[in-house]
Parts: sequence; C-alpha cells; structure tokens
Amino acid sequence: TTTLRLILGDQLDASHSWFKQVSPNTVYLIAELGQEATYTTHHVQKVCAFFSAMAEFANALANCGHQVIYLTLDETQHYSDLPTLLEHIITSKQLTAFEYQQPDEYRLAQQLAELAWPNVTKNKYDSEHFLLPFDDIKAQFAANKHVKMEFFYRRMRKRFNVLMQDDEPLGGQWNFDSQNREYFKQQDLADIPSPLLFANDVSAILARLQRHNINTIGKAQSQLLWPVNRRQSRQLLDYFCQHLLIRFGRFQDAMTENSRADWSLYHSRLSFAINAKMISPSEVINKVIQYWQANQQEISLTQVEGFVRQILGWREYVRGIYWGNMPKYATKNALQAQRPLPNYFWIANTKMNCMHQAIKQSLDYAYAHHIQRLMVTGCFSLLAGLHPDEVDQWYLGIYIDAIEWVEMPNTRGMTQFADGGIVATKPYAASGNYLNKMSDYCKSCHYNVKLKTEDNACPFNSLYWHFIQRHQQHFNRNPRMTMVYKNWQKMDEHTQQAIINKANNLLENIESL
Ligand code: FAD
Ligand code: SF4
Repeated sequence: TTTLRLILGDQLDASHSWFKQVSPNTVYLIAELGQEATYTTHHVQKVCAFFSAMAEFANALANCGHQVIYLTLDETQHYSDLPTLLEHIITSKQLTAFEYQQPDEYRLAQQLAELAWPNVTKNKYDSEHFLLPFDDIKAQFAANKHVKMEFFYRRMRKRFNVLMQDDEPLGGQWNFDSQNREYFKQQDLADIPSPLLFANDVSAILARLQRHNINTIGKAQSQLLWPVNRRQSRQLLDYFCQHLLIRFGRFQDAMTENSRADWSLYHSRLSFAINAKMISPSEVINKVIQYWQANQQEISLTQVEGFVRQILGWREYVRGIYWGNMPKYATKNALQAQRPLPNYFWIANTKMNCMHQAIKQSLDYAYAHHIQRLMVTGCFSLLAGLHPDEVDQWYLGIYIDAIEWVEMPNTRGMTQFADGGIVATKPYAASGNYLNKMSDYCKSCHYNVKLKTEDNACPFNSLYWHFIQRHQQHFNRNPRMTMVYKNWQKMDEHTQQAIINKANNLLENIESL
C-alpha cells in the first residue's frame, strides 16, 4: 500500500470514480472522530446515523475488495484531531500519498488544505456529488452579492435539461409555488400515509458515545429510524414516489399537530441520505421525474416541479451562497441581534404551542420540515432578535441533515436576515396570523392568536410589530415592505405604543413565554 484515501462521514458515495477500480496500493480510511462528534452539540440520532452509515459504507467497500481501515471512537480517542490521526497512519504505514475529496464544509476544507508531510504527495478530488461543479460556484455567487434563487434555478433547469421542452419550461411555467400553499382540512388528514421508518440497531454506538462522554441532545433510540445505507436510501426514495409525491407540492407548507397525521407529512425525509451522499441529487431528481412520467394521470406537474425546485434549485443554491461567501458569512449579523437563545429551545417547555410542537418533534426525531424550521422556530428567533451564532448552533446540532454548508445559509441567511439580504430580498417575519392559516397549532394554544396586547395575546403578534418598528431604518425603503410600513403608520400612536410596550415586556420575560 502506498496511498491513503480519506472518506469523510458525509462522503458515502459508492458511485464515486475512486471506487471504479480495486487497487492493492490504496487504503481507505473511515473514522469516527471526537472532533466531528463535538464541533457542536449534535442530536444523538444524528451522530448515530452518521456513524452507522459510515460503518455500513466501510463494509460495503470491503465486500467489493477494497482495503479499508475503519476506526471507532475507541480507536481514535487518543488522537486530538483528524490531522494527528492522519499523521500517525501515514508515518506508521510509511505511505507516500494522501488523497481526499473536496469537503463541503469550510472548516474541514481548511483543515485538510493545511496538511503537509515531507515526501508525501497530496491530491484533492471533486466529490462528484452536486450538479453544479465546484469550480463554477465563484462565477455565479460573488461574495456579498444577492443572487436570486429563482433565476439560478432557471439556469440550472436549462443547463441540465430538467423539466424542459426545448428552451421552455414544461407546462409553460417555471414555478408553481402559488398553487403549493394549501393547509390541511379535516378530510385531508386521514389520507396522510405513515412514514417509512427503519429500525437500525445503533445500541453499540450509543454505548460508545456514553463511554467517551460525547455530549448530545434529543431523544436516543437504539433502533434508528433513519436510512443508513444505499439500499435503505433508495427504498425511502421509492416510498416517496409511490406515496408522497402525489401531494408533496400541495401540502409543502402545511403543519398540523393532529394525531391522525404523522410527523413528516408529505415530506421525503431524504435530506440525510442525500447530504451523506448515499444517494445523489441527480438520481433523486431523475427517479422522481421518471415516476411522474409513468403516472401522469394521477400526479400533477405542480407536485413534481415543487420537489425538483428544492433539490435542483434550493439545495444547489445554498451551497453556492455558502462557498461564495465563506468564511465571512459565518460572522454576519446585519440586524445586530444579540439576545441569547431561551432555554426552551433545548427542552420544548414553552406555552407557545407552535414552538412547543416544532421543538418537541425536533428533539424526538431530529427532524422538522422546512416551514416549521423557517416560519416557527426561525421566525420566532428573528422577531425576538436572537443572536445568529446561537441560532446557527441550535440548527446545526439538532437536525439529522444539518451540515454547515446547508444549515448556515438557510439559518443565518434565509431565516435571520443576518447576511443583510444575500439570500432573501425581505425578512421572513410573520405574525401569528400566518401560523394560524397554515397550521392547527393555535387552536390548542395557551395564547390567543387574534390578540396583540392582552395578557394571553399571541407573542408573535406584538413581536412582529416590534421587529418592523426597530428595523425601520433597514427596511422602510425596501419595496417589498412598503405595505407593511404603511399598515404600521396607519395605527394610531397609542396603539403603536401599547404593542411596543407589550413586546418589550415579552422580551424581558422571554424565558417564561
Ligand atoms: P423535503 O421537503 O422532502 O424536500 C426534498 C429535499 O429538498 C430535501 O431532502 C433537501 O435535500 C432539499 N431541500 C429542500 N429545501 C431546501 C433548502 N432550503 N435548502 C437546501 N436543501 C433543501 N436542510 C438540510 O439538508 N440541512 C440543514 O441543516 C438544513 N437546515 C435548515 C435550517 C433552516 C432554518 C431552514 C429554514 C431550512 C433548513 N434546511 C436544511 C432545508 C430544509 O428544511 C430541509 O432540507 C428539509 O426540511 C429536509 O427534509 P426532507 O428531506 O423531508 O425535505
Ligand atoms: Fe403560536 Fe401564537 Fe398560534 Fe400560539 S397562538 S400557536 S404562539 S402562533
């Protein structure tokens, strides 16, 4: 053996060109690392999912005849970080070459770029995962510049010929978003299929996490319900096509706590499988389009376009924003938000039912769907002016799919407007009215969504106007906010003051909401 090839926990792509040939001169390293288990406080299911998927991948490679070193936390505990471990393996085995794939995270990209050993050559490869080649990012995502997702998405549709007819979008329209905003009516609830859950035994991993004092959050499950290999990832994709695609777009933004509905509704729950690269974005897109083509009587283009936009559009877009703007992006705080995260983000004990539901579900399953992340916890954090560093850490830890390149532009950019508008043209700020429209959370809430200033008034209502008022300088020339500022001006001074007083009072007592 002469070459060491590093495989990171989110590089579990069996179709990468590295694996086309079996070579006796190459050894692959897959390692559970303390540095990865602790760079933020992760959800316990997330650590289990990554470690379990890494072990499965190592086995699969070994079964194909590749030489693989798989190290658990027990074996890596004496190495302070990844470079120290690599150094040990390279010198003890007298290797002459080190190779790795471009990491998706800035932190790891820096760490690996800095490595150098005498007489060891170093090579970096593309991860071959995304549709947009890494080298094309800079041209499309200049630092500090707003890039409109919709136009990026159209370029991607054309470039990769997805849902196109000649040069025109299929169905004559690029975007069916306006048709994808339905909420659940009583009669819709019974139709929601139960999610496809796996039962992967992760008890040995849980024991290891305990043995090495790895601090985690969330509910531990020895039978992990998330996919941990390619077979399960494909099963999840098939399940999505057969049972969920049919209403994916339609109920994309809807939320419910009704016990007749399961927690993931019509969402695919594919994000972990895709982010760990067990399945590629193009495979997902192609499969979904093929399934739709064979079932066009049943499934409308609206559903399919809604799904394709998330992966070909949003997912590729946030990666571009991340790499176009790092490392400065990580410290942006355009709205100067300073408040610490209230404790209920960690234990869900809040009287705000929407927040309770979204946080509780996140602690139980390491999952919340996009609108819960954006319009419940995200919107609350924005309105309350929580510090984006703390908000970022929470999102980075709690979700099964959270890796910084995708988490940060969504959180700091899309939800917190901390990037000053690189992602969003206006802040995703909303009062309780939006949540009342899109969910049934308000019905059983301690607070009353119709009220603004009374004792039991919905906190989102006064906090919304407080946000609008305190950031007047920033937003009042934004054409998309004109109506909002007109509405604020229409209120008499007394009402305005009562709302601001109420919000100030809530902010002073934020821990007890
Ligand atoms: P579906 O609703 O079934 O969507 C299909 C796929 O589209 C997802 O699997 C995902 O790959 C992709 N997708 C959809 N929306 C986005 C988006 N905005 N950005 C990137 N990809 C998208 N997604 C992550 O993968 N990791 C994160 O750490 C993450 N953090 C987020 C933080 C916040 C504050 C917000 C608002 C969103 C975040 N998202 C993140 C995006 C999105 O919420 C999740 O991808 C989605 O909820 C995952 O569930 P799903 O697989 O069932 O998605
Ligand atoms: Fe959330 Fe307000 Fe509705 Fe309660 S009333 S669930 S706090 S939006």
